[in-house]
Amino acid sequence: MQKGDRTLIKKMNQRLVLRLIQSRGPIARRDIAHMSGLSPASVTGITGELIELGLVLEAGEIENEDRAGRRAIKLQLNPEAGYVVGVLLAMHKFTCVLTDLDANVLYCNIHNLPVKDSPGMPYDPESISQAIIQAIDGLLKQAKLKTDQLMGIGIGINGIVDYEAGIALFAPHYNWHNVPLASPIAEYFGIPVHLENDARSLTIAEQLFGVGRDVDHFVAAAIGYGIGSGIVTNGQIYRGGSGGAGEFGHIVLKKDGPLCSCGKRGCLESLAAVPAIFRQIEEAIASGEATVLANAKPLSLEAVTTAVQEGDAVALRVVAEAGRWLGQGMATLVNVLNPELFIINGEAACLGKHFLEPMEEAIHEYAFDGLSDSFRITTEPGGTEVWAQGIATVVLSSLFTSDKNDRLF
Ligand SMILES: [Zn+2]
Repeated sequence: MQKGDRTLIKKMNQRLVLRLIQSRGPIARRDIAHMSGLSPASVTGITGELIELGLVLEAGEIENEDRAGRRAIKLQLNPEAGYVVGVLLAMHKFTCVLTDLDANVLYCNIHNLPVKDSPGMPYDPESISQAIIQAIDGLLKQAKLKTDQLMGIGIGINGIVDYEAGIALFAPHYNWHNVPLASPIAEYFGIPVHLENDARSLTIAEQLFGVGRDVDHFVAAAIGYGIGSGIVTNGQIYRGGSGGAGEFGHIVLKKDGPLCSCGKRGCLESLAAVPAIFRQIEEAIASGEATVLANAKPLSLEAVTTAVQEGDAVALRVVAEAGRWLGQGMATLVNVLNPELFIINGEAACLGKHFLEPMEEAIHEYAFDGLSDSFRITTEPGGTEVWAQGIATVVLSSLFTSDKNDRLF
C-alpha cells in the first residue's frame, strides 16, 4: 500500500469517527466501533489522537456497565475547538451569528442591507459581500477571536443555489442571477464558505440538532416573507439536480392569481406568505371592511397576530385562507414524498392555530387518501437568530465530510 493511501484511509476513518461523535455524541468508544465497523483498537487509537488534537473531550459520564462489567466513558466534540459563522440574508436585513462546534450561539448581530442605488434596482452583490465581510470582522473582534479559529462560514439565501460552486443561481428576493457570492468572502478570510438555500439550512439544523434527528423522511417548511422547504429522504438532504429541490412556494395553485416574487402568477407564495397576508388585509381595508388593522400603518406581523388573537374578523379570514392555500401546497408534498414528519418554521408560524389548523385541514382534504394520516406535524417558531444558527450548522455538518475542511488535520 502506498503511504498516500494510508494517510487517506486514516483521514477517512478520523472523519467517520468525528461524524459519529458529532451526530450521536456523547457516545462510548464501543458504540463508535459498533456503528462504524472499525475495530475497537482502531477506535481507541483514533479517539486518542482526536483528544490530543483537542477536537474531542471525554464527557465524564459513565453509562451502563457492559456485559464484562466494564464501565465506559462517553466522548463528545470539544465545543471550543473551533467556531463557525452563520449569515442569513433576508429581504432587507441580514443576521450574523458566531457559534461554537455545538451550534451554541455566542454572538448575534442584525444589520441593514446596504442601500440600493434606486428602489427598483437589484441589490449590488459587491456591496453585499463587503457588508458581510465587515460584519464578520466585527463579530470576530467582539468575540476576541482570530480568523484561524474560524472553521468556516455559512451563508443562507433565498432561491436556487449551486452549493458546490457557492453561486446564487437565482435569488428572486434580490433579483439576482448567477452571483458568485461565496468566493470573495472565502478569499478574504481564507476559509471555506458554504452558500446554501435558506430553508434547506434550517432543515440541516433540524436534522443535526433538532426534532429531525433520527427521522429518515421529513420536510421542514419555512413560511415567512417567502415560502420554501428542505427535504430529507433516506436520512439524506435532497438538493435536486441543480440545487432547486424544495421550492414548493412556487407551485402554481391559482391560474392568473397574484404576481409572485418569481415573476409568475398564482404561486403558493403569492397566496400564503406574509406579504400576501398583508396585501389581502390592505385590500379589505380599501374596500371599507371594518378591522382593527385599519390603524396599523405599516402593517406588521405582530399587529396581525394580535388582531387574530383578539378575534378580528378580517384578520381571521385572511389568515385562515392563507393557511388553507398552504395546506393545499403541502398536500402535494405528501403525495410526492410521503414524509413521516413536517416541521413548520419561519416567521408566519407565530400566527398560531388560526393559521395552522386550516392548513392541517387542507392537507387532509387534498392529500391522497392512503397518505393523509401517515405524518406528524410540529411547529418550531424561531427568529432570525435561529435561522442564522441553522446556517452555521451547514458548516458544522460538513466539517467532517467535506474535503473543503482539510485544514482540520
Ligand atoms: Zn413564484
